Amino acid sequence: MPLLVQKYGGTSVGTIKRIEAVADKVIGYKNQGNDMVVVVSAMSGETNRLVSLAQDIDSQAKGRELDVLLTTGEQVTIALLAMAFEKRGYPARSYTGGQVRIVTDSAHNKARIKSIDDENIKRDLDAGRIVVVAGFQGIDEDSNITTLGRGGSDTTGVALAAALKADECQIFTDVDGVYTTDPRVEPDARRLNTITFEEMLEMASLGSKVLQTRAVEFAQKYQVPLRVLSSFESGEGTLITTEYEADDIMEQALISGIAFNRDEAQLTINGVADTPGVAYQILGPISDANIEVDMILQNIGADGTTDFTFTVHRNDFDTALASLQKAAGSLEAREVSGNNKIVKISIVGVGMRSHAGIASRMFEVLAKEGINILMISTSEIKISVVVDEKYLELGVRALHEGFDLKQES
Ligand code: ADP
Ligand code: ASP
Ligand code: MG
Repeated sequence: MPLLVQKYGGTSVGTIKRIEAVADKVIGYKNQGNDMVVVVSAMSGETNRLVSLAQDIDSQAKGRELDVLLTTGEQVTIALLAMAFEKRGYPARSYTGGQVRIVTDSAHNKARIKSIDDENIKRDLDAGRIVVVAGFQGIDEDSNITTLGRGGSDTTGVALAAALKADECQIFTDVDGVYTTDPRVEPDARRLNTITFEEMLEMASLGSKVLQTRAVEFAQKYQVPLRVLSSFESGEGTLITTEYEADDIMEQALISGIAFNRDEAQLTINGVADTPGVAYQILGPISDANIEVDMILQNIGADGTTDFTFTVHRNDFDTALASLQKAAGSLEAREVSGNNKIVKISIVGVGMRSHAGIASRMFEVLAKEGINILMISTSEIKISVVVDEKYLELGVRALHEGFDLKQES
């Protein structure tokens, strides 16, 4: 019997009515002869509500107890959805991550899945039950509850699909697939029939929250057929593929999509000595504080000094600035400054490999709109620029138009 793992996100289970609609939808697939494993998120807004409760007690709340708190959101939805199945005469059983035994490492708030025990699920499927699993959570070797990072239910879905060798992992959400860019910013964005894993991985890690980055990594590694679809309308959605289907129009495209990230902040230390070890002295304490650095830029000044600029997640801005100010003394720096009102816009596409001049076209489009570029970084299939946050919408839309990604008329 074919096996489908379906994941329904927060908006899709946001009310009792919607949970009931999900139950009906899943039953439709079950009646077509599929075994069904359903992964659900917390009801929309619930995880944020729980985070803010924690922050009312400790503005820096993190670690073990935050995970105990946040996982309750998903526990509510699995129970409600399983009840909806039972009420409709379909035997079902709900599981928290720990009950399945989704074992993770112990990195609270951003744990990685190490193994999944499929015994309980397989037994239930063999008994004809629909299995409902809480997304976003697991337990470590010592049975501490862990979470997989925001958006982590996608990864639960993919990991279960890999462990159970499902025929497809279907991510149901509030859009009907992966678009050329976030349709909330560019209403003319176009749904892609297919996108390669490589591109999807770049899009996700550069800020497209439609799929969690780790879910894409996992699916690529374990060759899980992965599709993004709408919970609310029917359609084929977007299939994430290893290669473009030969007749797919996107084969011709220079770039496939535009991603952006609003969670950026930039720090600069000016006038430090241009000698070996300086980068380490600046970034060592940042990494010791567990802060991830994204882009790094170093300018060489004429007077033997150098300016050093880098970006971090906006949540880490204050800590990074304090660390830099501390380092500034021993480095005899001229000045330390920071800007947490910046964003990163990236264009992504495997077509870049075979076409020159894409970067200059990107810069031309932004220049025409009077958008100043603060930093640039490139890799084989992406170009990212950092710009003032007030230019986010304008920049994304101009690039969407400039690279001809609009809806076909
Ligand atoms: P869920 O709660 O179902 O996990 P998310 O909010 O995490 O849903 O992800 C879906 C959202 O991702 C969409 O509503 C859309 O605004 C956003 N998004 C960002 N980039 C894209 C893109 N390229 N294609 C489709 N949606 C995107
Ligand atoms: N509920 C979690 C979050 O909001 C996990 C998820 O929805 O994927 O981040
Ligand atoms: Mg999500």
